[in-house]
Amino acid sequence: MGKPTGFIEFVREVPLDRNALRRIRDWNEFHEHLEDDRLRQQAARCMDCGIPFCHNGSLISGMASGCPINNLIPEWNDLVYRDRWREALDRLHRTNNFPEFTGRVCPAPCEGSCVLGINAPPVTIKEIERTIVDKGWDEGWIKPEPPKKRTGKKVAVVGSGPAGLSAAAQLNRAGHWVTVFERADRPGGLLMYGIPNMKLDKEKVVRRRLRQMEREGVAFRTNCEVGRDVTSAQLMEEFDAIVLCTGATKPRDLPIEGRALHGIHFAMEFLHANTKALLDKSAPPISAQDKDVVIIGGGDTGTDCVGTSMRHGCRSLVQVEILPRPPETRAVDNPWPEWPKVYKMDYGQEEAAAKFGADPRVYLTTAKKFIGDGSGHVSGVHLVQIRWEKNDKGAFVPVELPGTDRVVPAQLVLLAMGFLGPDQPLLESLSLERDPRSNIKAEHGRYTTNIPKVFAAGDCRRGQSLVVWAFNEGRGAARECDRFLMGSTQLP
Ligand SMILES: Cc1cc2nc3c(=O)[nH]c(=O)nc-3n(C[C@H](O)[C@H](O)[C@H](O)COP(=O)(O)OP(=O)(O)OC[C@H]3O[C@@H](n4cnc5c(N)ncnc54)[C@H](O)[C@@H]3O)c2cc1C
Ligand code: SF4
Repeated sequence: MGKPTGFIEFVREVPLDRNALRRIRDWNEFHEHLEDDRLRQQAARCMDCGIPFCHNGSLISGMASGCPINNLIPEWNDLVYRDRWREALDRLHRTNNFPEFTGRVCPAPCEGSCVLGINAPPVTIKEIERTIVDKGWDEGWIKPEPPKKRTGKKVAVVGSGPAGLSAAAQLNRAGHWVTVFERADRPGGLLMYGIPNMKLDKEKVVRRRLRQMEREGVAFRTNCEVGRDVTSAQLMEEFDAIVLCTGATKPRDLPIEGRALHGIHFAMEFLHANTKALLDKSAPPISAQDKDVVIIGGGDTGTDCVGTSMRHGCRSLVQVEILPRPPETRAVDNPWPEWPKVYKMDYGQEEAAAKFGADPRVYLTTAKKFIGDGSGHVSGVHLVQIRWEKNDKGAFVPVELPGTDRVVPAQLVLLAMGFLGPDQPLLESLSLERDPRSNIKAEHGRYTTNIPKVFAAGDCRRGQSLVVWAFNEGRGAARECDRFLMGSTQLP
């Protein structure tokens, strides 16, 4: 424990984000860093608890409590306080292949379960993580670490999102030859084409790590869809093991009247096309510029659509959420160390509020139909307020509130209502068993499927989740795959 009285002496401090009205004029990251000395004070707030809930990574009430990859948080907090940054970086890399990604995009369940959070604001764990790794890159401490010996075994990783990347990094360091297959034109999965650039810079942050992996010997085959450009039979023939990390990319639709109108898109069509255009230096094919935008879905994907629409220069913006507004502080049935389900303004809503004067979210509201402009294009969305009631089977269902109908203008509608599991054709071609939610059936911790030598990890196994869970699964699947190939494993 760096400073026994740190948690009494220092209050929580996080760096201010870039000004909301200024940052919507560009696509650069909006988070700033605290200066080293102030960050070291923040690390000194860590109490080095006997039982550090922050790093235990369990599921409570179906949500993560503590870090799912068991980051050794009190240890690196102590090292940061003592100004031993390089050792802190080594400690961080023991459990996390890519802390610069989690340090930017993780919702930080660790902070929700920090013991200090019981009666004071928690330690700024995520901020400390990001600063350690950014310093590591700036100082040139992070270098390619190719394996000293090769095993001669070949592994195919299908999908290059966070699960695929962490599996590939671990398997390569264990000495296997790893080829990552990716159907998109750039690797990274949702790190590249889901999460927008202002949250996670593609060239400076994502590509930098991909280059390091290439230098360590990982091969990437992009524009290559397994099941179409190369068959699963070819993969089974050519490789000693296969790790499937194909994500949960099937979007939930909203099949109401007017759905076929032009101008209604799934969130991922919009976000993928936008980042691709940004990287290709071309105009985005779906633009919110000068449009009234309605985003259906109040979650993180919806927030990314808000932030992207703000940068396009939308005219107005409404974000529709069917659930109630969360409370300002933890409800009695949501105690520490559970994930705190409380109201927060995320970056996109902050930007919309700065420009239009209010949080764009409307709660307990749903869309009834899309209205056309007479020439096949959407011009508005018919909304209605609801309340949640139990039906005769005991399930909560939305019930419309009479007299609350209204139509809001919209020339662009984005559907961000979650995902329904992985694309099925590849799984069918491999005769893989699925669970009742259409995800690949494989036990967490073992990752073996019903087909010998085929493993599954990440969203295609657990359903749409978080980057940090994808890391947990990718690393775990690598460990089990290595055990399968070699009879035993040293991988954590
Ligand atoms: C818009 C959006 C924003 C998000 N923001 C956050 C956030 O801020 N923080 C957070 O923690 N989580 C966030 N998430 C969730 C997080 O991104 C996912 O949980 C995570 O990326 C899952 O990782 P994965 O590797 O399992 O799958 P993915 O990242 O989905 O990667 C799967 C990859 O497999 C490829 N693929 C699929 N089939 C094939 C095939 N047959 N052949 C070759 N390649 C194939 C896909 O093209 C894709 O690149 C967000 C999700 C979305 C949609
Ligand atoms: S990866 Fe996420 S949960 Fe783990 S320490 Fe970092 S911010 Fe916290």
